[in-house]
Amino acid sequence: MPKRQSNPAWSRDELILALDLYLRYRTALPSKDHPHVLELSNLLGRLGGLLSFGESGTFRNANGVHMKLGNFRRWDPEYVKDGRTGLAKGNKDEGEVWSAFANHPDKLAGAVFAIRRAVEGGQIVRFLELEAVDEFWVQDAEEGKLLTVLHRIRERKRSLVEAKKKDMQRRYGQLRCEACDFNFSEHYGPGAQGIIDVHHIKPVHTLRPGEKTKLSDLALVCANCHRVIHSRKKWLTVQQVRALYDEFNNHL
Ligand SMILES: [Zn+2]
Ligand SMILES: [Zn+2]
Repeated sequence: MPKRQSNPAWSRDELILALDLYLRYRTALPSKDHPHVLELSNLLGRLGGLLSFGESGTFRNANGVHMKLGNFRRWDPEYVKDGRTGLAKGNKDEGEVWSAFANHPDKLAGAVFAIRRAVEGGQIVRFLELEAVDEFWVQDAEEGKLLTVLHRIRERKRSLVEAKKKDMQRRYGQLRCEACDFNFSEHYGPGAQGIIDVHHIKPVHTLRPGEKTKLSDLALVCANCHRVIHSRKKWLTVQQVRALYDEFNNHL
């Protein structure tokens, strides 16, 4: 194991990219100087720069990447079935990332593609510079921080938010939360007319930088319901929040 402890623990985003490489070489892991190990090391360096962690010279170097691939061994049933154990140390998130993605190749491929594209997307850098991330009420999605940021960029885009509200106002003559039916102006008066959040409903791993958001990709939700949606790693759907709301309000 590496002696130095100065580098931060691997983030979700990084573990997803590493898992992808692991699964491609599952039967025989690549060496430290394999081009794909070096490529991932380089990509993680840029990702670390974006998320402002790890500027040390050893941050996610080829040795670290190689080691991380070894850390996935113990989660791999194919590997441990013969009594082998894999490297015991590692990040507790590896097991979570394994169970969320290892047996869902489409979801993994989608997340990997989206994260890789996002690393290259300048819009993320601008958003991070504005310190609009780390909103305390938004739990990072299981796909990691970059795609969480991408989600928030989309649902906060002013022109789309306005277009969505206008569309709903025209169709239904009012703005109501799609999960709990809350209408701000009914409770706070006409001055609160138009207050409502917009939530992007497409799964995070399907997001692509630059892809156009359709109004049908958006849902109107009140601030409370939006908060509940983003309150856990596996973000809830609007339907799930509605079901919770109905269930718990029937008990009152
Ligand atoms: Zn609501
Ligand atoms: Zn949202």
